[in-house]
Amino acid sequence: APQTETRPFEAEVAQVLHLVTHSLYSHKEIFLRELISNASDACDKLRFESLANPELMSGDGELHIDVSWDEKARTITIADNGIGMNRHEVVANIGTIASSGTRRYLEAMAQEKKADARLIGQFGVGFYSAFVVADRVTVLTRRADASAVEGVRWESDGKGEYTLEQVEVPSRGTTIVLHLKADEDEFLSGWKLRSLIHRYSEHVAFPIRMPKDSDAHDGSDEAAEDGSQSADKAEWDTINAASALWTQPKSEISDEDYQGFYKSLGHDFADPLAWSHNRVEGNQSFTTLLYLPAHPPFDLMMGGRDERKGLKLYIKRVFVMDAAEELLPNYLRFVRGVVDADDLPLNVSRELLQQNRQLERIKASCTKRVLDLIEGLARNEPEKFATFIKAFGNTLKEGIGEDTANRERIAKLLRFASTKGDDASRSVSLDDYIARMPEGQDTIWYVTGETHAAAAGSPQLEAFKARDTEVLLMSDRIDEWMLGYLHEYEGKKLQSVAKGELPLDDAAKQKHEEAAKAAEPLVARLKELLGDRVGEVRVSARLTDSPSCLALSDYDMAPHFARLLREAGQ
Ligand code: ADP
Ligand code: MG
Repeated sequence: APQTETRPFEAEVAQVLHLVTHSLYSHKEIFLRELISNASDACDKLRFESLANPELMSGDGELHIDVSWDEKARTITIADNGIGMNRHEVVANIGTIASSGTRRYLEAMAQEKKADARLIGQFGVGFYSAFVVADRVTVLTRRADASAVEGVRWESDGKGEYTLEQVEVPSRGTTIVLHLKADEDEFLSGWKLRSLIHRYSEHVAFPIRMPKDSDAHDGSDEAAEDGSQSADKAEWDTINAASALWTQPKSEISDEDYQGFYKSLGHDFADPLAWSHNRVEGNQSFTTLLYLPAHPPFDLMMGGRDERKGLKLYIKRVFVMDAAEELLPNYLRFVRGVVDADDLPLNVSRELLQQNRQLERIKASCTKRVLDLIEGLARNEPEKFATFIKAFGNTLKEGIGEDTANRERIAKLLRFASTKGDDASRSVSLDDYIARMPEGQDTIWYVTGETHAAAAGSPQLEAFKARDTEVLLMSDRIDEWMLGYLHEYEGKKLQSVAKGELPLDDAAKQKHEEAAKAAEPLVARLKELLGDRVGEVRVSARLTDSPSCLALSDYDMAPHFARLLREAGQ
């Protein structure tokens, strides 16, 4: 008889499993979506690999995902005929955690009351959501290129160890059996499972099937445990739409379909703010379906870095890879969706993609579509636009430095706090500022600060306030960097109030000169006292209330930026 090997989980996995089983209370039903989404990924992978290796599909060319349950055994079974896993892959894929930030983010999430299980898919640990409802999980799997006797049985109670065994698995793919916890009986119902498939997995591109008439009696799959396919005798109903939504004509797709498809991409469970669906025909044809999310992903909010998943590249409807980096500039990394290209070679690798001319054009087209989409919100949907700016306004600012060709378009979309704006909210555009400029002003003034309060309270602003000149208040980390690239907008110079000379009218100039003369002895004395610590002591027209302030010459670094560099150890 084959040996059963018992192994401990990696420490990190054990901690994640503990969090998953003890902290995720709301939306427990998400396990079904996560396991179906893994089954769908496995079907995608098989379809892709079989292009080079058609015999992988042999005997069973119709990919599908089957969901059944057994009331007596209290199990739910999710089976696919996708790529499957060999022993090495089982250990590597479901015994380890790829991203090092995962545990930290999950911990932070778990501290929130009623931590929402729906977030789990964002962390690349969707499989473990099985342990939210099950106290034992069995995986039976056989890789498409392996023989029946090379099947693998993996089992765990999610507590610290798992067992591995080589077993016979009659056909290709993966079967996952969940042994439900005592109080999770609600999932042992055809009606319940069916409605969850509709809610969360409607737009999975492969048929998700359940035993026929599964509302009438239990969908028992008697011998699922040992991998035999007794359910083959049963007849199956397809539950979901099972189509590639983006390939359908726009006129036949409802808003609900678009929203449902967005959620099936798996990074977000809230509705997207907006989307853009386009087919480009010509010597190069492709389809894009691009979404703007309503909020940043959880790990981004936690200060982590976006892993740049979420934009999927298909070639002639075959999923090839996550290719956000190849298909969009970095500053648009929040965009989610699908690009389906007709004319790229199917054997394309990531390295080849990065040098592909056609892809450059698709990327330019995606960039244009996204900017169009954001401009549309700015024009027609102020509330959604405000939500967008709150979520991604700072990410968009990176485009000022990154995308020279679109700098003016991006600058038009940015919003700032201002001395004439509405408290700390970033709602003033450069166009608003220009529209309010009095005749003769040709400079867009700004002040930078560590915080909004510091910027708004800067003594540098006094003279501007006294003369009712609007000043933009910049206090986001990225601002100083961005301003290094944004010197001009619509022919108006952008200038810091901390730099250079404030322009004066004639009367003020005269008054200033008189004051400077009177203060000469004082200035001389201050220069003596301060010595090398300052470049120059000057009588200033900047201030109205404060007796003195530090000013910068045109070539000095702004104080906030100088501080950032110091923090970075420079
Ligand atoms: P993710 O799907 O984000 O990679 P999961 O925790 O959901 O993270 O899955 C971990 C890995 O386990 C997958 O990347 C895949 O390699 C493997 N896996 C899970 N389910 C299946 C399946 N049904 N068929 C083949 N491989 C699977
Ligand atoms: Mg997954």
